[in-house]
Amino acid sequence: MSYQHIKIPESGDKIRIVDGKLQVSAQPILGFIEGDGIGPDITTACLRIWDAAVAKVYGDQRKVHWAELFLGEKAAGIYAGNYFPDETLAAIKELVVSIKGPLTTPVGGGFRSLNVSLRQTLDLYACVRPVKYYQGVPSPMKKPEEINAVIFRENTEDVYAGLEYKAGTPENKKLAKFLREELHAEFFEDAGLGIKPISEFASKRLVRKSIEYALENKLGSVTLVHKGNIMKYTEGAFRAWGYEVAAEKFGDVTITEAEVWEKHNGKAPAGKIIIKDRIADIMFQLMQLRPAEFEVLATMNLNGDYLSDALAASIGGMGIAPGANMSDEVAVFEATHGTAPKYANQNKVNPGSLMFSGAMMFDHIGWFEVGKAIEKAFETVVAKKVVTYDFARQIDGATEVSTSVFADHLIEAINRQ
Ligand code: NAP
Repeated sequence: MSYQHIKIPESGDKIRIVDGKLQVSAQPILGFIEGDGIGPDITTACLRIWDAAVAKVYGDQRKVHWAELFLGEKAAGIYAGNYFPDETLAAIKELVVSIKGPLTTPVGGGFRSLNVSLRQTLDLYACVRPVKYYQGVPSPMKKPEEINAVIFRENTEDVYAGLEYKAGTPENKKLAKFLREELHAEFFEDAGLGIKPISEFASKRLVRKSIEYALENKLGSVTLVHKGNIMKYTEGAFRAWGYEVAAEKFGDVTITEAEVWEKHNGKAPAGKIIIKDRIADIMFQLMQLRPAEFEVLATMNLNGDYLSDALAASIGGMGIAPGANMSDEVAVFEATHGTAPKYANQNKVNPGSLMFSGAMMFDHIGWFEVGKAIEKAFETVVAKKVVTYDFARQIDGATEVSTSVFADHLIEAINRQ
């Protein structure tokens, strides 16, 4: 495919998908989107860190060939005001694996959010957020090292579907009339109305993906998070469909928590993934009190949104929490924080969120050693209390450094490994 403004490096190879599996050469092309606000600062730093880690681990044997793609304000400057160019979407699909910085949503641009549009257009139905503690990172928890979980949040439906009707509008009145007269629903006269669709299709594909991840990574449990005690036919259905897909597609490698107690005296047979479920509000408590019991969490959209930010706070905050949005083919890794406009172009913020999303990306393409080198370097540098402003204000005696100097320290630590 030819592009107007995007240059695909001729030196590298495009990642392909064959029989559902990624085919990655030693010279893959990966897409990157700089992002807005603090995006350029953190992307510049991270590209240096990722390249240094790949060079350290693989020498001349492997190299990433980066293709810059454009979304957000940078795109608007290049594509005559278009924040969301079609060719960027085409390139994200063609390159299969990309990473992006945060994006500003243009006010009055016709988008609810560029990120939501990206997820919907490419059907990136799973938002994947690992929460893992790194030594030395300031945390409000007593034993943050016990947190090591991956959240799979459904990205396409729930109250994010945009089915909302403002009080007083003709649409709201029509819907209210239908609900009252046809379904005998009772609610206050001036209520705004929203609809929460939860489907079997979307629930099952999300839970399937979370179980596949647990299998690939040899993890012991997948927990379905829901509020099915109250919302029986949406959140309760998610729970039921989750157990169903586990039994239908993974019956030989999974076991329910109930079966573990009924038939195995509370101890899962070797090699089986335990499928369990927890009510959402209890889940927030449990992740503070007994986080070691949970490895993969499968959630609907809203619960996952709350849970991933709460857990990010417990392991050091949004500055270092990584994430990705994925379909079965395309994966877009991303910084999970926003554009933090007050810090734009100040070379100040923590590049950790984007950097660890990159580490996830290297795991995704099977280059596991790269992420390990980055994690080790991060712990080494943070142990010396050399940190960006966000950690400096929480660590006594810290040396506060800029984004680029923090990257310098990380690269030095990588090269010393
Ligand atoms: P934000 O950009 O995430 O910033 C909120 C606060 O989080 C910052 O003021 C800063 O805290 C802290 N923070 C964020 N990134 C950091 C980093 N790399 N290092 C250290 N601290 C960091 O949230 P927002 O101000 O609500 O949103 C700003 C814009 O971003 C909005 O236009 C929003 O739509 C957009 N947004 C984009 C994405 C995305 O692209 N994925 C996600 C969320 C929001 P302190 O003030 O305490 O220093």
